[in-house]
Formats: sequence, structure tokens, C-alpha cells
Amino acid sequence: TGEPVNMFAVGWLDEVYKERPVKPVITRFPPEPNGYLHIGHAKAISVNFGFAKYHGGKCYLRFDDTNPEAEEEKYFTAIKEMIEWLGFKPYAITYSSDNFDKLYEKAEELIKCEKAYVCHCGDAEIKAQRGGEARGPRFRCAHADQSVEHNLAEFRAMRDGKYKPREAFLRMRQDIEDGNPQMWDLAAYRVLDAKHHRTGDKWKIYPTYDFTHCLCDSFEHITHSLCTTEFIQSRVSYEWLNKSLGVYEPMQREYGRLSITGTVLSKRKIMKLVAEKYVRGWDDPRLYTLIGIKRRGVPPGAILEFVSELGVTTAPTNIQLARFDQTVRRYLERTVPRLMLVLDPIPVIIEDAEEMELELPFSPKIPEMGSHKVKFTKTVYIDRTDFREVDSPEYFRLAPGKSVGLLQVPHPVKAISFTKNGDKVTEIKAVYDKSGKKPKTYIHWVAEGSRNVEVRIYNALFKSEKPDDAEGGFVNDINPNSEEIWPHAIIESGFDEVKRRAPWPEAAGESELGKGGLESVRFQAMRVAYMAMDSDSTGDKVVLNRIVSLKEDAGK
Ligand code: ATP
Ligand code: MG
Ligand code: MG
Repeated sequence: TGEPVNMFAVGWLDEVYKERPVKPVITRFPPEPNGYLHIGHAKAISVNFGFAKYHGGKCYLRFDDTNPEAEEEKYFTAIKEMIEWLGFKPYAITYSSDNFDKLYEKAEELIKCEKAYVCHCGDAEIKAQRGGEARGPRFRCAHADQSVEHNLAEFRAMRDGKYKPREAFLRMRQDIEDGNPQMWDLAAYRVLDAKHHRTGDKWKIYPTYDFTHCLCDSFEHITHSLCTTEFIQSRVSYEWLNKSLGVYEPMQREYGRLSITGTVLSKRKIMKLVAEKYVRGWDDPRLYTLIGIKRRGVPPGAILEFVSELGVTTAPTNIQLARFDQTVRRYLERTVPRLMLVLDPIPVIIEDAEEMELELPFSPKIPEMGSHKVKFTKTVYIDRTDFREVDSPEYFRLAPGKSVGLLQVPHPVKAISFTKNGDKVTEIKAVYDKSGKKPKTYIHWVAEGSRNVEVRIYNALFKSEKPDDAEGGFVNDINPNSEEIWPHAIIESGFDEVKRRAPWPEAAGESELGKGGLESVRFQAMRVAYMAMDSDSTGDKVVLNRIVSLKEDAGK
């Protein structure tokens, strides 16, 4: 497929730049600190931070914290960490709430130029004013005729706590003749009885998204305000407010959201999965929260590559999980070393073998990764699935009387007998096959004395592409085998070096940024899967997660 195209140099994002080819470019990523980021946000992060970076500009991380009821401190930290993990550095971290004083002043200014009024209507009245169910004619309430002095006094009374929530709100006086509902005298400020995490009890009124976002963009001199297409209709009110106040006018443009099928991303649903213990937490490796994807071991570079491959246009992107996995797999293939790991070990005693030292390359495809020494012992462990008690002609792994190659070992081995305990094979006896015939298959193995690890094989959390369509809801679509645990797996000694050198320099960008996290200890377990260390690992216990299978169809 050749070099991937740079999504900022061509196409929609390039056109957006050409519409306003200014320097420096200033953008912002404006999450609400009311939940963990998910894969969809990775697109917004790539678009905003990437656009600024590409044009040599800067991007703010702005916490859009105007809804005190839903915000929590832990989300601020988690959001910041995920942006850094993806390799971006905010030019500055700001908060919409930094501007509460300034926004308040702007609201008074808007009242003074007769473009806002304090309204006391309830939901039903507002609905009727907007034409009602029948989409009849639109009209304004009597509050719209109040004098500037009256509106100022009322707005100050709102600020000073005279009104309870819903008893009064500040409304912009826009254009009710406009066909766009975003111009039908939207709310600018509402009374909320809530403590704000940064301003505490100072405010009894809080600005709305429609009032705040465009003004904060303006205060920060955002040149290109990039958001998702559900804000297309809001563009007119965005422009109206900045123009009405005569402030700097950023340019809002809208791109398509990224959705992933086969999983759920909404906070409410993930909350349920966590609360009812279907998953290990918000960072469960089966979830598509960014903390979950990170914990699973997906490299940040693979996420950026995924977003870039999909490209950015105004169309929404609906992607299957399999496509994401495919990008991750290709990325890992180029960037991680290989090791041998046996999930379900059985000992093979090679009667005529002598202990020796082997030199194993970390990757047959990438010689620069170097090699490591591994001890070969008289007893080695192979996976239970690589042995059969009864041979057959179309079978090419180990069986009585049949030879198989052991990866990187000079001679194949032939099984001569085995022992069982009940149904289970407990030990195989073998000898070298020195006939000189090249074996059809090579299997992986680990030496005696290697380290025991726990391996968690993750499969899709849901059975179908559309969990929400399941009868009785998405919980009924949960795959009962989404997590398979192999508690007695064994890994070769090369693991120590892989761990020491992680993240491998080949994992672009991460060497500086993603350092330290156990999940950056990634490798290909040959013939098994791509693996990474899990955060449950401790000084004496290694836990590994399957990042993705080696091939597309495996492990569904
Ligand atoms: P959600 O409800 O899924 O958390 P949101 O829009 O409420 O989404 P915000 O915290 O407001 O989340 O998101 C911050 C930025 O990320 C916004 O600019 C938003 O448009 C963008 N964003 C959110 N979800 C997606 C998505 N699926 N694809 C692309 N951008 C997204
Ligand atoms: Mg939002
Ligand atoms: Mg949100």
C-alpha cells in the first residue's frame, strides 16, 4: 500500500486550512471532564493536536467544565494522561471556568446591546414559542420586550441567588424567523444549585455550551475550531454570538464522528458493565475506552495510524472492531520483538539431548532488533495442542512416531511414548530425529526453569456487531468467553531483555512519551498472539494480555 497519506496535507483538513491559511494555527481539544475518553475521542485528539502540529501551531487542552453536576477530578487527570500517551503536548491546559468572570461580563454586554433577555418561561411555554409539535408559527414571549435595565437587574438577581433552578434563564435574542432551531433564542445562562470543582460556591448561574464554546474559542484566539458534525446546525449561533459581541471570530468546521461497531462506548453503558462486574473496570482490556485500549497493550502509534488510515471528511465513519485489530496487528508486526511462550505446557523429555545455548533473533524480519541467548534443556515444554496421542497422515505436529521441528533447534524431535493421568497427557518422551528430513512444521517451546506467567486471552466482549440490538439490551449480547485465563503459561528467558528494553525504539515516538507503563512491554508470542504486560503484574508475578491475535480470523 506504500506510504500512508498525511491526512493534514490533502483532503478535507487541507481544504479547511486553505479556507483560512493563517499562521500561527491555533486549535483546541475541548472535552467535558465527565467521563473517560474512548476511541472516538482519539480521532478528535488526532485532528486537533495533529492539525496544529502539522502547521507549526499550537493546540490547547481546554476542559469544558461548565456543567458542574457531572464533573469529577479523576477525569481531568485521565484525559490529560491519554493525550500525552498519544504523543501530544497541549500548548496550555485551560478551563472554560477560567473565563467565568469574562463570560459574565460578555453576557451583560449582550443584554446592553439588546441581544439577550431574562426569561421565566417553562419548558412547555418555550416549546409552544418554537412552534410546538405542529411546527406552527414561532413567537417571542413578553419577557423579550423587557427593557435593558430590567434585564440587567434580573440577570444580576439570578447571579445573586434570587432564583432557583428553572425559575429564570438568560436567553439570547437571535432570529426566530431563521429556519435553524439553533437561532430560536437559545439559553445563555441558567441557574444551577451546584458546587463547581474549581469555583466552588461562587456562582449560582452557569453559562451554556452555546454561550461558552464560541466565546472561549474567541478568547483563546482559536483559528480553526474543529468539531464533529452534530454541531453543524450550531455553527450559525456560534458565528452570531461572536459577531454580536464584536470579538475575534474563529472558524468552526465539522468532521464526521468515528463510531466502532461490535462494542459500546456510551458512558452509561460502560458504567453498567463496570458496576455489574462484566469487566474489570473502566480500563478493562476488552473496552474501547482509551485507558482500556492502553492497558490491553495497543501502542499509541497504532491508534494514530488507524485514525489516519480512515481519513477525515465530513462523513461519519462506522468501523468494525476487526478493522482496528488489523491496523494494530500490522503495526505490531513492524515494531515488536518475538519470543516463545507456551500457554498450556506439557514436558517433553528428549532422551538423547544435551543442554546447549542457542542464539535466537528477536525478529527474523528486523535484524536490527538483535538476538538473545536461550538455554535449550533436555526437558522442554510444548503446548498441549501441539501433541496428539494418535497420529494421522494429514497431521504435522508431534505424535507417537512422528517428528516435528522445534523453532531454532538444529534437529527435529520424534515422540516415542507418553504418560497420562486420567484423560490428560502429563509427559512425552522423545528422541532427536537425525534422518536429515526437513520437518513440515516447527512448533514453539520453552526450556526447563523458565518463568511461569498468567496469560489473559481477550476475545470480543460482545457476540454481535450490534450489541444494542440484542433482545433485552446489550448485556444480553455479552460473549461468555471474552476472557480466557491461562494461569500456568511459561515464557522463555528472553522476556527479561524485552522488558528491560521496552518500549522498543521501533515503536515510534513512544520511547520518550509512553515510558514506564507495563503495557509498553510488548512482543509477539510466536504461534500464539501479540502480548503485553498487564498492570496487575507484580514483582514476582507476570500477567500478560493478548493485544490481538496473529491472524484476522483467530479468536473470534
Ligand atoms: P461522548 O458523549 O461520547 O463522551 P462527547 O461529544 O460528549 O462524546 P466530549 O467530551 O464533549 O464528548 O468530546 C470532546 C471532543 O471530542 C468534542 O469535540 C467531540 O466532538 C469529540 N468527539 C467525541 N466523540 C467523538 C467521536 N466518536 N468521534 C470523533 N470525535 C468525537
Ligand atoms: Mg460533548
Ligand atoms: Mg462527553
